[in-house]
Amino acid sequence: MKKIKSFQVDHRKLDKGIYLSRKDADVVTYDMRFCKPNSGEVLDNVTMHTIEHMLATFARNSDVRNEVIYFGPMGCQTGFYLIVRDIVTKDRVLETVKMILKQTLEYEGEVFGASEIECGNYKTLDLQCAKKACSEYLEVLKNVKDIITYDDVNNR
Ligand SMILES: [Zn+2]
Repeated sequence: MKKIKSFQVDHRKLDKGIYLSRKDADVVTYDMRFCKPNSGEVLDNVTMHTIEHMLATFARNSDVRNEVIYFGPMGCQTGFYLIVRDIVTKDRVLETVKMILKQTLEYEGEVFGASEIECGNYKTLDLQCAKKACSEYLEVLKNVKDIITYDDVNNR
């Protein structure tokens, strides 16, 4: 089997942060690492699920909504994928991610899509868990000046 691109980055070199993982034609995948890989820290399902509902909704209502292809959790529970069209610059992606995190922190009320009609497991949602993780991640992003690629990570 050919090794897929996301297995080719040395995960020992990854820290919390945001990375440009891959480009496929005009589609770019960003990895939002909330947790350092293999550190023992992972997001629990309720936190991950709620962040998925909140950030997906805010991303799809943001200035780059027409360029958002997908937002969703990583199976390894250390973060999320944000997939956008290449016309959105890295700076704009970073700005947008910070914006939607802030919107989640400021949000009061029902989690978006928290109903049996809209979600496959709507009882496993908790806004406070999501806010705590988003707040910590926003602090991490304050130190990120430029989004680096996984090739940059492998070469350092
Ligand atoms: Zn759901």
